[in-house]
Amino acid sequence: MATPRKNEKKTDAVKAASSEPDLGFTGESSWQYEPSLEGTDHLRFEKKYELFIGGRWVAPKSKKYFPTINPATEEPIAEVAEANAEDVDAAVRSARTAYDKIWSKLRPAERAKYLYRIARAMQEKARDLAIVETMDGGKPIKESRDFDVPTASAHFFYHAGWADKLDLAFHGRPYRPLGVAGQIIPWNFPLLMAAWKIAPALACGNTVVLKPAETTPLTALLLAKIFEEIELPPGVVNIVTGAGATGAALVAHSDVNKIAFTGSTDVGKRIQGAIAGSGKRLTLELGGKAANIVFADAPLDQAVEGIVNGIFFNQGHVCCAGSRLLVEESVHDLVVRKLRDRIATMRVGNPLDKNTDLGAINSKMQLEKIRGLVAAGEAEGAERWSSPCALPKKGFFFPPTFFTNVAQASRIAHEEIFGPVLSILTFRTPDEAVEKANNTMYGLSAGVWTDKGSKSFWMAQRLQAGVVWANTFNKFDPSSPFGGYKESGFGREGGRQGLSSYVEVG
Ligand code: NAP
Ligand code: MG
Repeated sequence: MATPRKNEKKTDAVKAASSEPDLGFTGESSWQYEPSLEGTDHLRFEKKYELFIGGRWVAPKSKKYFPTINPATEEPIAEVAEANAEDVDAAVRSARTAYDKIWSKLRPAERAKYLYRIARAMQEKARDLAIVETMDGGKPIKESRDFDVPTASAHFFYHAGWADKLDLAFHGRPYRPLGVAGQIIPWNFPLLMAAWKIAPALACGNTVVLKPAETTPLTALLLAKIFEEIELPPGVVNIVTGAGATGAALVAHSDVNKIAFTGSTDVGKRIQGAIAGSGKRLTLELGGKAANIVFADAPLDQAVEGIVNGIFFNQGHVCCAGSRLLVEESVHDLVVRKLRDRIATMRVGNPLDKNTDLGAINSKMQLEKIRGLVAAGEAEGAERWSSPCALPKKGFFFPPTFFTNVAQASRIAHEEIFGPVLSILTFRTPDEAVEKANNTMYGLSAGVWTDKGSKSFWMAQRLQAGVVWANTFNKFDPSSPFGGYKESGFGREGGRQGLSSYVEVG
């Protein structure tokens, strides 16, 4: 017999709804994996990382540095320069000079060569990039190794291909680059977000000042070392590390032509307000509260894998995470039972272990936010189930968790938790599924699980989401545009559509 777990109300309905025999699976691992740690001894971190401006490493005029820590151990990795408004000004001036004197004058095929070189150098350094991404941000090594780094280099390859074919991109209309792009990125996919931003900007002939997130600056700085190594002309990309004030200084700078921002809806709104009337172009990639919709006719075991991938990938630190599960009422209990047993097998722990499924939460602040919203869910009467897995004593960890009996109006059904926490709701008809899925201020992504292709298309036409996955979730490709509806932002990244964010079309 399955043993009841913490917080679990074992109802007869759960058993009764299942046509499958209860095999007495307890969820405890039937075997323990031996540790399989990725080696880090060969890595040499610098004690202090400076700003990358004009192709050189320069000390910040602010004279300030901040520590970046490993969220799995809470130990500092290095000190990183904090750019103030003067430093940001130096970076923008260097990007302007590089734009005027070099990058805008370069033949497109020459720009392409640089992008190919960056992509190839990223492949050569893939292992170190993955390890540093995992140490600085907490994500499992198997994700940074198999997803973040290869997808990031794929973005450079893809945009290298476009650089000398832009004549074909805008239906034959003339185009010109915008100039200097100020780019601000979050901590959940630090290297990948840098690639999403830098690759199309450079391909289209712009120069860049990039501000990584305070908690995850290191892979952007390693990328700067790649720029040095492949001899990207000085000033074409400048990296200014720091916190929110550094980003705000970049937004406020009068000589920036375009701001590309990925982050929270709150900060996105503030940025939009700050640049109103300035003539700066803007794209915003903001938050999400995606619905993963499972019909009774779906291949349910496959759907369970998709739900798990949708919400627990990268500890749920994913803007397009399938954080709301809408399941057809007739299969609710069965899906919940399958999900519970599947989640109980997931390994949470050292992100550098190749068997780890869920690594560390990115920061203490984010862990507190997750805890707060989970407590709100319990207080509002939803039923919580958390995996009984053991958590490491040090570091910021949270067990994979889901809520059943979630009221539509509750905070956990509306607010972005940005952690490994799933809210489960039910529906009876496709119309009701659409209505509930769209009942959010966000509109970044959605998933539909059904055996009927016609039903997927019917749903996709009605879901207000930038991306709709059918019988899969969280799949990305550089050729596929990504972006939001409603308060998830505007503009697209990736694909031909993403290029238009970096040019003025005549
Ligand atoms: P955030 O607080 O909005 O921060 C994003 C970036 O903006 C960081 O580099 C941050 O710096 C900087 N920043 C903060 N205040 C600023 C200001 N006033 N002016 C200019 N820049 C400022 O978001 P986050 O908590 O790091 O990231 C999580 C959020 O990003 C979630 O809401 C998630 O959904 C969203 N996200 C969306 C996408 C997408 O493609 N739609 C992708 C990934 C993440 P510091 O962090 O250094 O303070
Ligand atoms: Mg860090």
